[in-house]
Amino acid sequence: MGQKDSGFMMERRLKSWFWLLAAGAVLLVLGVERMASRTALGDGQVRAETTLRQTVNALDSHLGRFEALPALLAQDDDVLAVLASPQDEQRLQAMNRWLAETNALIEASDLYLINLAGDTIAASNHARPDSFVGQNFSYRPYFTAARDGGSGRYFALGTTSGVRGYYFASPVRDGAGRVQGVLALKIGVDAIEAGWRARDYRILVTDPEGVVFMSTDPGWLYRGLLPLTPERIERLATTRRYSDAALDEIQAVETTAGGVALLRLADGAGTTREYIAAATPMPRAGWTVRVLLETTPLRTQARLAVLAFALLLLVGLLLAWTLIQRRARLAERLAIQAAAQADLERQVAERTADLTRANEDLHRMQADLVQAGKLAALGRMSAALSHEINQPLAAARNYADSAGLLIDRGDLPRARENIGQILGLIDRMAAIARHLRNVARKPNEPLKVVDLAAVVQDSLAIAEARLTAARAEVLLDLPANLPTVQGGPVRLQQVIVNVLSNAADAVEGLADRRIEVVARTEGDEVTLSIRDHGPGVAPAIADRIFDPFFTTKQVGSGLGLGLSISYNIMKDFEGDLRVANHPDGGAVFTLVLRRAQREALAAE
Ligand code: ADP
Repeated sequence: MGQKDSGFMMERRLKSWFWLLAAGAVLLVLGVERMASRTALGDGQVRAETTLRQTVNALDSHLGRFEALPALLAQDDDVLAVLASPQDEQRLQAMNRWLAETNALIEASDLYLINLAGDTIAASNHARPDSFVGQNFSYRPYFTAARDGGSGRYFALGTTSGVRGYYFASPVRDGAGRVQGVLALKIGVDAIEAGWRARDYRILVTDPEGVVFMSTDPGWLYRGLLPLTPERIERLATTRRYSDAALDEIQAVETTAGGVALLRLADGAGTTREYIAAATPMPRAGWTVRVLLETTPLRTQARLAVLAFALLLLVGLLLAWTLIQRRARLAERLAIQAAAQADLERQVAERTADLTRANEDLHRMQADLVQAGKLAALGRMSAALSHEINQPLAAARNYADSAGLLIDRGDLPRARENIGQILGLIDRMAAIARHLRNVARKPNEPLKVVDLAAVVQDSLAIAEARLTAARAEVLLDLPANLPTVQGGPVRLQQVIVNVLSNAADAVEGLADRRIEVVARTEGDEVTLSIRDHGPGVAPAIADRIFDPFFTTKQVGSGLGLGLSISYNIMKDFEGDLRVANHPDGGAVFTLVLRRAQREALAAE
């Protein structure tokens, strides 16, 4: 019971541990989820910043290639000459050709010469229908900056071409250092923009007013990332930066998550997405470059990783649960087994106690029985003895009395006769005493090698008188090669005489008074059977005839000691004495003897 309890206790303890573990796992998953999304966003930011640096560097070097060119070309004498004599058609044509050749050489978009009034007098694109020649650019900041002696830089949507471009402008000075005109260079940005496409991030370039000027996504172009205030719209209109393009605002919301700047933008189709935004200004160009990295794939990736982690944890937990269940079941089974074992042991102990008690009872009963038997035997023996002794004593007394009277009368011969009777009675009492001595015989006398045939002959001689008196007819069958047996010759003779006397008693007065004495060898044993043709032994008394003092004979005829003594003698010889009734009538007493082992026995 105790073991079973402790099994359940263990199970309960394990299970509470398990739930603790499970709760821990859930917390862990939540923590990991936070960490993973943070890490993913952080990684995204690093990537966005790296891309931003590369983009800005590429833009810078691209612009840098063209920056010094207008100032260099403006020093050409022909340029000043054309400005000085704008009516010289030949010079103008030559200038147009030179500009076109140079423009092709430096791979710019357009190269053109503007007079102080802002009118374009010669251009590389003079031959094209959308030629700049004749166009007035006085409103463009790059022109005004160069006309005023500085170097102009500007980016805008071309009012004539409708093509976006970056403009560099330099003053053309005469010998006295006075500005006579402006040499302008426009470079396209389409090629740069095209190089950005097909990447997993987006790039936005905005002007100081926050209007998107370059973008990987055409839907954002010419739209304000900052609110389009009236001042901003006013400024943009003055410089005609975006020509006639209609401006509107992009729906933008700035947020942060874990220190990462996020931007929510609606694209051209109106779908809002969240991006990691890395931004840096390019002061010389007047731009702000933004690299946008969509967070959805990052978050998805992070979630997938967390999901995988959670699944792994779940598998671990399930495994742990199964293990716990199995352990608990094992513990339970062991406890049940132990309980069953204890139960069995208790039952065995109980049975053993019962058996011990029963055994003790049996022993006590046996002891009681033996005691009772002893007392009974003693009683029977006392009765037999007193009878056996009183009778001859009484008779002896009578004989002695009459002997006295006969002596008084002088009849000596008859007195002597009486004394003779008294002596006979004394002899009988002496015989009883001898028998009693035999009852109290010394056991364990050493066994000897005995010649059975000789002992049988002697016994027959001793029993002769009794046999003759009963008129018995003895039929002897002793094989010539009868082996010797182990025993004591005198005691063996006593047994044989006893059985023969009983046989004589049995057949006395009957018609068939044959007594058959047969010796046989059977392996290690030699048997001597004595069969009479008397009434046999009744089954009811067959197992009592070997008891001491058991007799069916009249008091005075037998003491009932003969077979008891004989039986014990045969046992002393390591042999046996058995009784049976012959199928054809009569008792058969069989003496079973062991063949003598000469080496082991004392010679007679
Ligand atoms: P006793 O001869 O003094 O009675 P035993 O011990 O020799 O004592 O015999 C016990 C009893 O066994 C006898 O009283 C008799 O009833 C029975 N018995 C012995 N031998 C025979 C026999 N050959 N046939 C029938 N009964 C026998």
